[in-house]
Amino acid sequence: MENSEARDSSQCVRVAVNIRPLITSELLIGCTDCITVVPGEPQVQIGSHAFTYDYVYGSTASPSTAIYDDCVAPLVEALVHGYNATVLAYGQTGSGKTYTMGTNYSGEGSNSGIIPKVMDNIFRRVETMKDSTEFLIRVSFIEIFKEEVFDLLDANSTNLNKGESASVLKPVTRVPIQIRETVNGGITLAGVTEPEVRSKEEMASFLSRGSLSRATGSTNMNSQSSRSHAIFTITMEQKKIARCQNGVTTDDVGDDILCAKLHLVDLAGSERAKRTGADGLRFKEGIHINKGLLALGNVISALGDEKKRKEGGHVPYRDSKQAEDSITWKKSIFWAMWMTYGVVSVHYSLHDSLGGNSKTVMIACVSPADTNAEETLNTLKYANRAR
Ligand code: ADP
Ligand code: MG
Repeated sequence: MENSEARDSSQCVRVAVNIRPLITSELLIGCTDCITVVPGEPQVQIGSHAFTYDYVYGSTASPSTAIYDDCVAPLVEALVHGYNATVLAYGQTGSGKTYTMGTNYSGEGSNSGIIPKVMDNIFRRVETMKDSTEFLIRVSFIEIFKEEVFDLLDANSTNLNKGESASVLKPVTRVPIQIRETVNGGITLAGVTEPEVRSKEEMASFLSRGSLSRATGSTNMNSQSSRSHAIFTITMEQKKIARCQNGVTTDDVGDDILCAKLHLVDLAGSERAKRTGADGLRFKEGIHINKGLLALGNVISALGDEKKRKEGGHVPYRDSKQAEDSITWKKSIFWAMWMTYGVVSVHYSLHDSLGGNSKTVMIACVSPADTNAEETLNTLKYANRAR
């Protein structure tokens, strides 16, 4: 879907809606399309409601690269310029979050999705700058399930290093990563694997290893992945290289190291608790996830309010009521937000991450099926608020 004029590039939060096509299982039960995209406008209609976003990608004829080009390419560019950036995929289970992000990457050939394109473009960019700049690129891939964080790249807590094919992998008991609060109020993950990668292929191998680990890491695969957040983080450090001519250094490059992170987040399903299952435990988890998503919305909404942000207004990144009950707070997805912005190297305080030095794109994923209309409307309202 073509969108209207490009918006101010300094805008720090953008919201896109991605409507996937009806899938076979929906067509088989006779679902019909209940969303209309207003031609030429980033606007959708569902029932009597109409919403406008920064971008809308319709269920028909949207080139698969548009979402990358519009929403993500500027963030890769921001990363190269030392800005922290985050892409969040939000939506009910089955709405296309994982498909859109490319978080179930299985190697060459499976090139759809945002992350594979990010990998491509980062290394293309690095290639053009390598004469003047030295790069150190690392990745991490974590999964947040309830209050626990799992390292999807840790060979010891998965069985992916035993040379077995995916089909015979059995779930292993995974050991969560220790979470520590730092003195400045941030959070660090003790001992998370952060391998250095020198090529697109190397980065891809970690993405596919982590994707496989996520898929096989639990006894109840599908249900866990729909209730967990997956965060693939690319950290880029750069240092200018001094060029020499006739033995004379021609550039004054200093010792500065520019460091920034790009977080690519595949969030837990946003569906209401009643739909996540009949048993009590599942219901409680659903409540936590929903509470967290609400807080996440508050944060994004405040961040998106340029005026408020510039005036140093209150960004409710840690809602006071929730802070009082840190257990509840930790179980929420809001915590994922904290992680996303707070798990940063010592170079950045949380404040910097949330303030001017960060860019966020939320991609709200929806199914067009009439049977999902209620959840779709919830997602559209949520995304509307975030904007
Ligand atoms: P989620 O991660 O939100 O639970 P998935 O990404 O797993 O959802 O998508 C659910 C189903 O819809 C999958 O079978 C996926 O292949 C399909 N799907 C999602 N987005 C698209 C799309 N843009 N085009 C075609 N199929 C899609
Ligand atoms: Mg998914």
